[in-house]
Amino acid sequence: MALLNENYLKLPGSYLFAEIARRVAKFKSENPTADIIRLGIGDVTLPLPAASLEAMHKAVDEMGAPETFRGYGPEQGYDFLLKAIIENDYAPRGVKIEMDEVFVSDGSKSDVGNIQEVFGVDNVVAITDPVYPVYLDTNVMAGRTGEYNNGIFEKVVYLPCNAENNFIPALPTQKVDIIYLCVPNNPTGTTLSRSELKKWVDYAKTNGAVILFDSAYESYIQENDVPHSIYEIEGANEVAIEFRSFSKTAGFTGTRCAYTVVPKSVTAKTASGETHSLNKLWNRRHTTKFNGVPYIIQRGAEAIYSPAGKAQVKEMVAYYMANAKIIREGLAGLGLQVFGGVNAPYIWLKTPGGLDSWSFFDKLLIEANIVGTPGTGFGPAGEGYFRLTAFGNRENTLAAVERIKTRLKL
Ligand code: PLP
Repeated sequence: MALLNENYLKLPGSYLFAEIARRVAKFKSENPTADIIRLGIGDVTLPLPAASLEAMHKAVDEMGAPETFRGYGPEQGYDFLLKAIIENDYAPRGVKIEMDEVFVSDGSKSDVGNIQEVFGVDNVVAITDPVYPVYLDTNVMAGRTGEYNNGIFEKVVYLPCNAENNFIPALPTQKVDIIYLCVPNNPTGTTLSRSELKKWVDYAKTNGAVILFDSAYESYIQENDVPHSIYEIEGANEVAIEFRSFSKTAGFTGTRCAYTVVPKSVTAKTASGETHSLNKLWNRRHTTKFNGVPYIIQRGAEAIYSPAGKAQVKEMVAYYMANAKIIREGLAGLGLQVFGGVNAPYIWLKTPGGLDSWSFFDKLLIEANIVGTPGTGFGPAGEGYFRLTAFGNRENTLAAVERIKTRLKL
């Protein structure tokens, strides 16, 4: 009899989106004429930048000619893309990254989920709360989290981020080994300043911890004093791994391309105290389990760094951020407590009248026919909060805010 990885049985299940779908379907069946606006999804709606399309068309043609056809590429990514990433995302910020420290992949979801494989099972993991659920779930699968009781995994160090602490996680009071930071944050849309990030880098250096820094929403940062990369903080190249994605930057959610930076100076120890570079281990894992992002897609990704591509991406980000402003200001004007939406395409609101997240979900659906995401779906500290996204089209965004103003009984 084959035995299961019983850690999988500890996962509470994909309750959130299944439950949202169930409640929306029930509402739809009872109100068939209701025109529902969805501001719950974290997916983009604008098409790919023209520069990427053009590059991909050209690459398709290359694949059709014997002289330019390409089979398996380098697992870590083609040099042309690695070079474009370093020259555009890091060099202008004074960050020195080598070609063999960048790993191109099919998505940050895979990378933030897979990275834990190179770490031992006995590490203590700290996760900001609320946050993108993949960090926690993949550590549950790996057996690093202990039992699940009352919505909490016993061995995980949750770092609550809420209105009371201005969404700035406090340093853990006990020693932790792996720290997940998501900046700008999904779901709260908030960021960390240079001095806050420095505290985490210093903590990691003092405690021999590794920071897993997910900056999938980096391109949405608008304010000048918010760092775009953790490597802008001195010493971070010794303690941090950074994840970036073309998904939200350039509409690649369905096209799939991302990258992870693992500096050679980031290390971890064996139980007997021997130090090893995580770059080597990640390279081993990546080349063993992954066979590279398609050439066509990598050409599309490279094109966002061309002058035309840069302008198109800027326009795309500006479009979503204008939506964010509409939602943020519209809701704040009603006296709702809103966060985020300045350096990220997410608006995080305190549910009014002390409602729990699911009660507010029902209220918004029933009174305004709008679907959002209950904060509890992102962790226990999400209770009493709610996420709306700026990824919809302008018409729906404006209509949604108007409905909230006119129909929601506050
Ligand atoms: N990281 C965060 C914080 C996200 O919110 C998402 C997607 O919603 C991802 C990673 C996944 O990105 P990708 O599409 O590159 O897999």
